[in-house]
Amino acid sequence: MSPSPASPETLSIRRQLRATVDGRVVTADDASYDQARALFYGGFDRRPQAIVWPTNTTEVAQVISLAAERRLELAVRGGGHSSAGHSVSDGGIVLDLSELKALELDTAQRTVWAQTGLTAGELTTELARHGLAIGFGDTASVGIGGITLGGGVGYLARRHGLTIDSLLAAELVTADGQTVRTDAGTHPELFWAIRGGGGNFGAATRLQFQLHELDGVVGGMLLLPATVETIAGFVAAAEAAPEELSAIANILPAPPLPFIPTQVHGRLVIMALICFAGDTQAGQRALVPFRTLATPLADLVRPIGYPEMYPPEEEGFHPTAVGHTMFLDRLDTRAASTILEYLQASDAALRAAQLRVLGGAIARVPDDATAFAHRQRRIMVNLAAFYQGPEDKPVRQRWLERFATSLSPVDDGAYVNFLGDDGPARIRQAYPGPTWERLVAVKRRWDPTNLFRHNHNIPPGG
Ligand SMILES: Cc1cc2nc3c(=O)[nH]c(=O)nc-3n(C[C@H](O)[C@H](O)[C@H](O)COP(=O)(O)OP(=O)(O)OC[C@H]3O[C@@H](n4cnc5c(N)ncnc54)[C@H](O)[C@@H]3O)c2cc1C
Repeated sequence: MSPSPASPETLSIRRQLRATVDGRVVTADDASYDQARALFYGGFDRRPQAIVWPTNTTEVAQVISLAAERRLELAVRGGGHSSAGHSVSDGGIVLDLSELKALELDTAQRTVWAQTGLTAGELTTELARHGLAIGFGDTASVGIGGITLGGGVGYLARRHGLTIDSLLAAELVTADGQTVRTDAGTHPELFWAIRGGGGNFGAATRLQFQLHELDGVVGGMLLLPATVETIAGFVAAAEAAPEELSAIANILPAPPLPFIPTQVHGRLVIMALICFAGDTQAGQRALVPFRTLATPLADLVRPIGYPEMYPPEEEGFHPTAVGHTMFLDRLDTRAASTILEYLQASDAALRAAQLRVLGGAIARVPDDATAFAHRQRRIMVNLAAFYQGPEDKPVRQRWLERFATSLSPVDDGAYVNFLGDDGPARIRQAYPGPTWERLVAVKRRWDPTNLFRHNHNIPPGG
């Protein structure tokens, strides 16, 4: 789309932003506007008045104060991976933190203060130079702010817990434009809430993490044929595996990748990403139950540097997709058969069921210690389908709903970071029991006007 003229209101916002912020400000009359308002996922045609890239915390505070004064919708963006499109606003301001990439590493104490413009891949690569790591998710380009504030489930989850379990402190700019530090002893309720409660309480500009020593892992992709036996067997093996091992099993039609035999393309496979964070020989032993489930179609699991766990990403890839996130406490052959049945019946260009066996260090933290309260659930399941255009979207959504209900008629949990635009009832399922009331109380204290509402919102009124 060619640039459109900026409205008088946009011009006035731009003037005010440029007077206070050294970083870039892009409005609808700029050639880079369409690129600047795009997110990882396609399908969001939202037109903010301005997108602004502050270069320090003071500038973040100025943008927040301007949005509050002018009563503009504020979208906070880190890595831009929100599947609900929350990190682009229609008619408001996008506060893009991606220029904030400084980090202060303390190798003696094994801690880091990292600015939230860093992606998981950037921080992981830097830490690996020092034999250190934090567990984020499965994708390098995800922002550390978004994933951490929602919880963070990745390749080190069973070994070291969720990303929030390594969070020591945070610096936030709150709705009143103040910069606040929070940790276990400073504003402890706020610190509890930001560990799972998402971006509801302010814009996090810096996060401090406890780091873990990690010289390398036994990891990579294992591709197995997907059958009732291999799917149920994979989950059983992942549950029985030592905690050093975390696995993410994607069941999907095999894509035409060069290392996958051509006769397998399009057939349902388990594309598993397995990571053993421990001794190499113990890792090879822990892999045996997975490798013997069936003759692997491809086996790329080997000793590697931890950053190599992140698969390469395609530049300019903006899929349009719908998803459903849920938890199961067992996955037997009946559930495996349901997975195969639904994936076979769909003709979506890409459809997948992703299984993540939890437990280990995640489950050792009490449910009420953070705002992520699904610690005792055994398996996280994420179902997804690509769609082609607006008419196709409800078709794929209905398929997802039927699929999810067939797997579990009682769908009573959700991981906030994998929620799409699913509505308030699903947000409540992300925060079960007393977690919701506690989050509402913290929201009331720190954001009584709900300035930070373009997110999986916890309204101050409950
Ligand atoms: C391809 C892909 C793979 C993923 N894999 C995993 C995974 O393995 N494990 C996992 O746990 N999650 C995973 N996720 C989910 C991911 O954690 C969330 O989508 C997360 O919110 C993305 O963060 P972001 O900064 O990239 O996104 P953004 O779209 O930039 O941010 C999403 C929302 O988070 C909030 N936010 C972001 N940064 C800040 C900040 N600094 N301060 C305040 N609020 C902020 C805002 O409300 C914002 O709207 C994945 C998502 C995708 C698309």
